[in-house]
Amino acid sequence: MKKLNLNDGQKIPNVGFGTYKATDQEGIEAVSTAISSGYSLIDTAAIYGNEEAVGKGIKASGVAREDFCVTTKLWRESLGYESTKKEFEKSLKRLDLDYIDLYLIHWPANAKNYTNWQKTNADTWRAMEELQAEGKIKSIGVSNFFQEHLEALFQTANIIPAINQIEFHPGYWQQELTEYCKKQNIVVESWSPLARGKVFENEVLKAIAKKHDKSVSQVCLRWIIQHDVIAIPKSTSPRRIQENIDLFDFELTSVEMEKINKLPQMGFSGELPNIWPDRV
Ligand code: NAP
Repeated sequence: MKKLNLNDGQKIPNVGFGTYKATDQEGIEAVSTAISSGYSLIDTAAIYGNEEAVGKGIKASGVAREDFCVTTKLWRESLGYESTKKEFEKSLKRLDLDYIDLYLIHWPANAKNYTNWQKTNADTWRAMEELQAEGKIKSIGVSNFFQEHLEALFQTANIIPAINQIEFHPGYWQQELTEYCKKQNIVVESWSPLARGKVFENEVLKAIAKKHDKSVSQVCLRWIIQHDVIAIPKSTSPRRIQENIDLFDFELTSVEMEKINKLPQMGFSGELPNIWPDRV
């Protein structure tokens, strides 16, 4: 597995394990299986309701703390300076860890929901900068930030986000935003890298998979990491958990990359940072 350099000097694996909807015993087992299959980056969030299960799964795997990265996220209804500090401590406790590797603002305050969304995001970010300075977080970042949200944040931020985690999969990969993030030295991380299964019947992807003797899932994930973007597929099946990290014995050609880049829109979640909680 390759590691990507973050703008704060930290390194992060380019494939991680998503845990959305993996709760309770299923979540504990999935995380423990993922770690023993070779994943060293685990993605959770306060809103998933599984931080405790993720923490238990990590413990059950017996892996040393310095050998894995944990991401969690501040929910969008908890934005603000005081609230960020409080919610962070709650996440840390639920995960039963001493520090978080990567803490993200899950969704930005936006013009639809906040009278002064710029200030809400700025205050939230200031709290995160302080938590990082105290050594409680290694890297701080954002999720679902459009360019407008990032530009507003830059007005007051002392630290540039290390990561922007966004919806990114064949059929919806936010190319302009991705290029903008890369120019700002922000690593892009893909959520729903498999479009929650909505890409599996695509004929172009199936043909490329057949040629490489790989699955459509592996082709999607390979395409993501060849864009220098982090992929965090979720699965609760041990076979698929293993399959989703078995990506390093083949390479997509530039022609195949381009074919996938150009696929028409498919699998889009309908969720947008500037209109949440509405969808398109
Ligand atoms: P995903 O990873 O694109 O797809 C997961 C679905 O695909 C599950 O139903 C899984 O079923 C199935 N699957 C996984 N591997 C497979 C394979 N090899 N073959 C066939 N089916 C397979 O969707 P996601 O969970 O939405 O996204 C991944 C992670 O991104 C989340 O878990 C979460 O950590 C993060 N995320 C973040 C945000 C955000 O706003 N920041 C939003 C959404 C997601 P099984 O479990 O049965 O295998």
